[in-house]
Formats: sequence, C-alpha cells, structure tokens
Amino acid sequence: MNKASVLVFNCGSSSIKFAVIEPKEGINIATGLVQRIGSPEASIKCTMGSETRSQELPDIDYRSALQVIIDLIHNFVAAKDGIFAVGHRVVHGGEKFTHSVIINKDVLSVIRDCVHLAPLHNPANIIGIEEAMKAFPDLPQIAVFDTAFHQTMPKYAYIYPVPYELYKENHVRRYGFHGTSHRFVCQQAATLLGKDLKKCAFVSAHLGNGCSAAAVLHGKSIDTTMGLTPLEGLTMGTRSGDVDPSLHSYLADNLGYDVHKVVDILNKKSGLLGISGCASDMRSIESEMQEGNARATLAFDVFCYRLAKYIGALIVPLGKIDALIFTGGIGENSPLVRAKTLGWLKVFGFDLDITRNDANGKSSGGIITTEQSKVAIVVPTNEELLIARDATDLAAK
Ligand code: ADP
Repeated sequence: MNKASVLVFNCGSSSIKFAVIEPKEGINIATGLVQRIGSPEASIKCTMGSETRSQELPDIDYRSALQVIIDLIHNFVAAKDGIFAVGHRVVHGGEKFTHSVIINKDVLSVIRDCVHLAPLHNPANIIGIEEAMKAFPDLPQIAVFDTAFHQTMPKYAYIYPVPYELYKENHVRRYGFHGTSHRFVCQQAATLLGKDLKKCAFVSAHLGNGCSAAAVLHGKSIDTTMGLTPLEGLTMGTRSGDVDPSLHSYLADNLGYDVHKVVDILNKKSGLLGISGCASDMRSIESEMQEGNARATLAFDVFCYRLAKYIGALIVPLGKIDALIFTGGIGENSPLVRAKTLGWLKVFGFDLDITRNDANGKSSGGIITTEQSKVAIVVPTNEELLIARDATDLAAK
C-alpha cells in the first residue's frame, strides 16, 4: 500500500484529539477525541469513514487513554498501513523552536525544559510523544509548536516593561499561542483572495473557547494578543484577558485571596462566564441575549468591544490591512459577533455585507464585507491539517 497519511495527536491536559489525515487533499481518514480523562465520565468517540463509535472509559488514566487510541489505530489496518509519520501539537517551545521539527532525544529534552512555561500542557504533550514513539518506533515523529509562529515578533513587541533580568534569567516575555491556527488561516486567506502571502498584511482573530488575535505581515507574525501565558489579551470563554495587574494585590488585601485563587478566578471563572454568570460559550450567550438577559448582553458587548480595540491596535504595526480574518468556533459561526466587532472598526474602512455575513461568507468565498470595503473574511481553521502538512514536509527530508 502507498503510505500516504499522517497520524496527528493533540494532547490537552484532560483530553486527547487525534486524526489520521491524508495531507495533500486534506482528507480525514479517521478523527477522534478522548475527553474528561481521569474522571468517571471519561469517554472516547471516533469516526472512521462513515462509521462512528463511542465508548465509556470511566476513570481511565492518561497513558491508558493513549493506549486505547493506539490500539484503535493499530486495529484500523487500512489507516495503520498508510501512516508514514506522526505529528504532535506541542504547546510551548519557548525561544528554542521557531519552526516544526523532527523529534529526537535533544528535542524532547528541550520540550521538557519548557514545562515550567506550560505546566498543564507540555507534560501531556510529552506523554503523547513518548507513547507514540513506543507504539510507532519506525515512524518519524514531528513536533509542531503553538508558540513557534510568533517567534518572529520583534523584541519591542515581546519584551514586557518589567525588570530586564526577569527576561534574561527567568524567561519572562511574551510568547503568544494559537500559532498553528494563525499560520493556517493566513495561508488560506491569501489563497482565497488570490494574493501572495509574502505581500499581505493580515490581522487574524482566532475566537474559540480561547481567543487570540495576531498581526501577520508578509506571512510572519509581528505581534499577538496572548503573552507569557494564554491569559493575556482578549476576553475569552472563562479567561479574563487583560486586567490591571494590581487586581491580584487588591483582591489579596481586600478579600484575603492568595495568588493561586486569583489566577484560578482569572482563568476559569472570568470572561464570558464571569460577566454573564450563566455561560462560557458564545452560542448560549447569544440565546440568553435573545431572552433579554442583560448580563449576557453585557458579556457579549465587552467581548466584541475589546476584540475590536485589539484589532485596531494590531493594525498599527502592520501599517495597512489587506484582510481581517475570523476563525475558530465563534469567528466562523457567529454573524452577531462579527457584525458587532466590525461596527467598531468603520474607521479602518470596514463595511459589513449583512447577507454575506449571515451566511458566514459561504457563498462569497468567505468574504463578509461589501465590494468597496476593506476585506473581512471567514476562514475555517484546521490545525490538524497544518500539523499533518508540516509532518509530511519534514518526513520527506
Ligand atoms: P476550542 O477553542 O475549544 O477549539 P471552538 O473553536 O470549537 O473551541 O469554539 C467554541 C466556541 O464557538 C464556543 O463559544 C461556542 O459557543 C462557539 N460557537 C460555535 N458555534 C457557534 C454558533 N453557531 N454561534 C455562536 N457561537 C458558536
């Protein structure tokens, strides 16, 4: 059989996404998800061709969950025989990785060195790599980093205005995340618009449960909203995004909170959930708004207002804008969010086409603005496909 597919692992802290992808045409041969690992509700769902299977996996631990996936891939003979590489999403590559790389002992050790920068995610990524190396010892394993795309940011964009020793000695700087998604949608947008990526100035807004925006000039990230951690920047589902850094001491002094409690609140109880008090996901926020829920409306307004402010800020270093890209679950599917956000951005020449926007750009090549407007475009993200393509390129070398 002609080996033509890539196995992709996206190992989160309590879930594992996997896919077997034919990278040239972007065909998903198999996709699956194990979620709520370590809890009584843990389960796996997997789709292969037209068949979907699910199974409860109560209290399964992380390595055993990976083993279930690996057994499934091994037993799924057609896909197994066709796999020529394994691609891994790795959250943090620190300053060491500016591109995707083939994993060897040295690479693995640097990923370990970055654990302090992403203590929830990199350990899960490492377990995924170790188990895949054991299961597929003859296949090249490739790491694709969330941070790598943003390593082209100039120093004045990534240095925090705090004592410089914290950068030199403790790695405190802005790194940025969602790099795989920003890179993918910028490539796609250039193709859809018939432009050369190397001549384009894009702002891409990845709006999912986590949200970030990036300024991408000539195909390179020059600034982004997330920083040392994914907490910085935009308002998200449960994350606050930017707040006054003195909030920590204010809450400590007035309510007796310790730093861990404040960080927990800012990561898990803020954003859309914190303001609305009822939901972290945009679909529910929108249906609550329709019921007249004032706090859900406020959460929506804060989300869009702050998003627009950051998009404006990211246009500054670009000097011009060829297209604003919306992606992620919210960016791809919420006409309301795009309309409200673009309403704030008229000063840059954006003029929404309501019909195109309501159709999520489906019948207009993604474009949701009028002919005479600056371009705003909806581009579905596909991080797994980019990982599969990077793995293909590196495996070929
Ligand atoms: P993740 O960051 O976990 O990958 P997604 O990219 O899937 O998340 O995005 C999830 C978000 O997208 C949720 O807030 C969800 O409510 C929102 N979303 C999905 N579909 C719609 C829709 N039709 N309208 C509004 N929001 C939507």
